Amino acid sequence: MKKEFAVIGLGRFGGSICNELAEQGMQVMAIDINEERVNKFAAVASHAVCADTTDEKVLKSLGIRNFDHVIVAIGDDIQASILTTLMLKELGVKKVSAKAQNDYHEKVLRKIGADHVVHPERDMGKRIAHNMVSNNVLDYLELSDEHSIAEVVASEKLGGNSIIDLNIRARHGINIVAIKRGNDILVSPQADELIRAGDILIVIGADSDINRFERKAL
Ligand code: ATP
Ligand code: ATP
Ligand code: CA
Repeated sequence: MKKEFAVIGLGRFGGSICNELAEQGMQVMAIDINEERVNKFAAVASHAVCADTTDEKVLKSLGIRNFDHVIVAIGDDIQASILTTLMLKELGVKKVSAKAQNDYHEKVLRKIGADHVVHPERDMGKRIAHNMVSNNVLDYLELSDEHSIAEVVASEKLGGNSIIDLNIRARHGINIVAIKRGNDILVSPQADELIRAGDILIVIGADSDINRFERKAL
């Protein structure tokens, strides 16, 4: 069965989620208090509804409990975001993701039971800064405060060596989960796989170990 999503708040962030879910063929209900915004999504979403989600009766009448995943993308009105999230959890919605506007907002959202909190401006800023600092790092995904997955380009220095020759796990404490080579991707490469200069290594590990690997090995 296909998952059913609801997106509350159709600003840039919520609107973009809505478009992408629809693009991926998902069922998505688009909700906003602002009628103009709702109209913009009438053609994209399975349903587009004008409603104030801080009103419990309204949430119930939308049958919000039956959705698999609800995204609260209300930003500026922090009070509305918190109230909506709280009621969604009280009504028994299994999975609620919420957008935080600042660290305090994030803390409150977690306390009241949001299953997933995103902080797009901060997280994207971090990610872009990280990519700017190192020439070898193409992309980077934060798993926790201390762990990430990074895409790094293999240097001439690494080229011609096998994973086992380089002893990457023991020496650097990181794992190569995949190698991108042209249009091919080798998932879970064997230890005897020869790395070529220009390969894109997808590595997982502690940030400190990944940073050291970037500086020492690449
Ligand atoms: P973004 O930063 O994603 O571009 P934005 O800055 O345009 O968003 P926000 O104030 O963050 O707007 O709110 C996103 C949307 O949430 C707005 O379209 C707003 O109308 C809607 N919204 C605000 N309060 C409620 C509410 N109580 N019920 C439903 N929708 C709401
Ligand atoms: P964000 O969406 O990243 O949280 P914001 O919504 O707080 O940003 P923006 O209007 O996007 O604010 O502007 C970001 C910052 O750029 C603000 O601190 C603002 O003072 C500054 N800024 C805006 N215009 C100029 C300008 N012409 N020259 C210098 N700084 C500017
Ligand atoms: Ca905003």
